[in-house]
Amino acid sequence: MKNISEKTLLAVKAAEAELAAVFAKFDGTAKTVAEKILTAFYDNRVSEAHLHGTTGYGYDDRGRDTLERIYAQVMGCEAALVRSSIVSGTHALAIGLFGLLRPGDTLLSVTGKPYDTLDEVIGIEGEAGSGSLSDFGVRYEQTDMKNGFIDYEKVEKRLHKGGVKVVFVQRSKGYAADRRTLPVEEIGRLAKIVHGFDNVYLVVDNCYGEFVQTSEPVAFGADLQIGSLIKNPGGGLCRTGGYLAGTKKAVELCSYRLTSPGIGAEVGASLEENRNMYQGLFFAPTVVASALKCAALASYLFGKAGFRVSPSYGEERYDIIQTVDLGSEENICAFCRGIQSGSPIDSYVTPEPWDMPGYTDRVVMAAGTFTSGASIELSADAPIRPPYTVYFQGGLTYETGRIGIMRAYDEVVK
Ligand SMILES: *Cc1c(COP(=O)(O)O)cnc(C)c1O
Repeated sequence: MKNISEKTLLAVKAAEAELAAVFAKFDGTAKTVAEKILTAFYDNRVSEAHLHGTTGYGYDDRGRDTLERIYAQVMGCEAALVRSSIVSGTHALAIGLFGLLRPGDTLLSVTGKPYDTLDEVIGIEGEAGSGSLSDFGVRYEQTDMKNGFIDYEKVEKRLHKGGVKVVFVQRSKGYAADRRTLPVEEIGRLAKIVHGFDNVYLVVDNCYGEFVQTSEPVAFGADLQIGSLIKNPGGGLCRTGGYLAGTKKAVELCSYRLTSPGIGAEVGASLEENRNMYQGLFFAPTVVASALKCAALASYLFGKAGFRVSPSYGEERYDIIQTVDLGSEENICAFCRGIQSGSPIDSYVTPEPWDMPGYTDRVVMAAGTFTSGASIELSADAPIRPPYTVYFQGGLTYETGRIGIMRAYDEVVK
């Protein structure tokens, strides 16, 4: 391979020999999930007609309706909305929250502060009058995690006081390096508590979590799980979109926010996106396994080189994110340069730190992706601040992702 040092090639060879059992585990999960997905295709008698879309109102869009049944079956719940008209994960989450919450209700986040982009949705940040949940009289409270776990006792105590309509969980650590990503089993334990109370929904931000385990949060009792189609479940083929999956009641309420009351899920032309959404789901378990292998390889290499990594290479994984504390701005830029130069698109471009709107620190990003901003594809980003942590994720194929990682390793460990 061009431009990779002999030293790095040898290090990767040794790493891959050591990682064989770890990789086999990812492949095992992918096999189980792939079986579920293919079974759902069989059960719903997918035919070529489903791959074509509708225009206008999109009445009787068989492709869309069948795909939503397939998602529900695969995730293990009653219903789903899977739409290319959902512009991002944040939009899908906003649909979920506005769909379920009413004036006077309380939203209780039990994994600390939610993902940054939700601040203005909830009304923690931003100007009053923008139409946030807070503007509509929805109250916000949070309980922080305790030693990396949900503080179940505190949550139960709060629920006893009443007023909470939505208990909100962010499964992935996202860009909070100091917390754990949650396995579905722990979300299941929370679901048991939440369902001891009437009229409370458990909603999960499932971004980056799909198909990393053999089961999903809704199968463990969550009322709703929400994600982006340019992350895991889109399999790298969805060009845009988001999904919500859960109970019939929760999904129906969200459908009135997706379109409008009285209309719900029965409209929404799929245009020509159905094929990508079916085929993307079909590929998703394999693509997620590739991303996990890339994460484990990076963890192994940079861990052995003396950097603090999370998770460590052999640790159980519940999302596709890998962090590496690189210790300096120089190393962060070197890492991102390497990832960028090993990407299929814009490999000749040099990423530089910049003042991104909405962020306090400068941020540097590497993303040479087919789909703009798709983080199921090999990508990395890092705010320039101690301990100089880079967040790394994706890799549509392990065979190409490993090249980006080798280039990053070469750049950092000269
Ligand atoms: C990606 C992500 C979101 C949504 O982000 P978008 O960029 O709007 O798709 C929300 N929560 C978490 C944990 C995420 O990783």
